[in-house]
Amino acid sequence: MNSQFTRRTRLIYTLAFSFALTAAPSEGQDRGFSNDYSGESYGRTRVCDVIHVKLEPVIDMKDGRIDGVVTTTISPIYEHLREVYFDAVDMEILSVALSSGIDLDYRYADNLLTVLLNRTFHVTDTFDIVVAYSAHPKMGLYFVRPDDGYPDKPWQVWSQGEMDESSHWFPCWDYPNDRATSEIIVTVRKGMRAIANGALISAEIDGQSGETTYHWRENVPHVTYLTSLIIGEYHETRTEWDGIPITYYVNPSDKKFVDLAFGKTPDMMDFFSNKIGVRYPYEKYAQTCVHDFIWGGMENISATTMTRRMLHDERAEVDYQTDGLVAHELAHQWWGDLLTTKNWNNTWLNEGFASYFDLLYTEHARGNGEFKMRLRTFRASYMN
Ligand SMILES: [Zn+2]
Repeated sequence: MNSQFTRRTRLIYTLAFSFALTAAPSEGQDRGFSNDYSGESYGRTRVCDVIHVKLEPVIDMKDGRIDGVVTTTISPIYEHLREVYFDAVDMEILSVALSSGIDLDYRYADNLLTVLLNRTFHVTDTFDIVVAYSAHPKMGLYFVRPDDGYPDKPWQVWSQGEMDESSHWFPCWDYPNDRATSEIIVTVRKGMRAIANGALISAEIDGQSGETTYHWRENVPHVTYLTSLIIGEYHETRTEWDGIPITYYVNPSDKKFVDLAFGKTPDMMDFFSNKIGVRYPYEKYAQTCVHDFIWGGMENISATTMTRRMLHDERAEVDYQTDGLVAHELAHQWWGDLLTTKNWNNTWLNEGFASYFDLLYTEHARGNGEFKMRLRTFRASYMN
């Protein structure tokens, strides 16, 4: 994630500020760096391993509604498994069944869906649970549309999973200590695109309605919060690095800004692959600009979401560059996505490595002086 002033830093700043007011430490005195998030912590206990997640959402852009079916492939971690749990926030659960068609009983309370299995399952078993649900998400999936104040605003839908918001738009294990492959099958209205994680399996246009059904699949196992879906009217720019497709998606009226904003991405991919010693590991890399984004950028696996505010012209480039943001989110594809912390207390590892590799790219592209200057800026920002 990237933002100058996130909710979490705001909380930390608030805590730090109140501490400074009450304790008023003198210069040089140890203020301490711990806060409420520090100390020992343990990951949430899993009872099963999620292997694959298949999403088939039907999106109503006008109503801000999702009617979905999620099929989750599961294998027990412990013997004699009788219950499986899904995080599901403010949803209407319509049905729960095994993929064989057998209906399953369930309890839904306190945003937790407890599925009662029809028999005892064993560690050697693998099975699919199919949940049909409906929701008007207040988080997790965001609906952008024109209104009286902003009549030119485009119709868009975008998701934001970090930290635990995916469970607002599909029932899932919404915690970073499990990894699964995933796929999304979604139909969008004429003229729109759906952009999601992994490889594009198919994009079939209905000759009558003009609707397109997109099928994306991510074959590298990943944690839930990196699942992404974006729908909108988008201009696509294609390039590549060493055979890996790289795509940039912007509003058609914004296509003149693409090169300045994203142009160094292939060079960054080359630099990081060599510096880290692990080749960029996914099927493609997409960057998509959305309206009203709540962060600067979000490193969804193989499909980063960017704020539209990062787009800028030649004049602005003199004072404002976005290479840092682009490098930070790309570096996350290794640090945070390929390697993930088991719990959110260690998210500083994701952010620390992504920020440091952004600096290393600065050194590569602009020299050691610029590297040192930005390192100093980062340090001052942290100390503040
Ligand atoms: Zn980040």
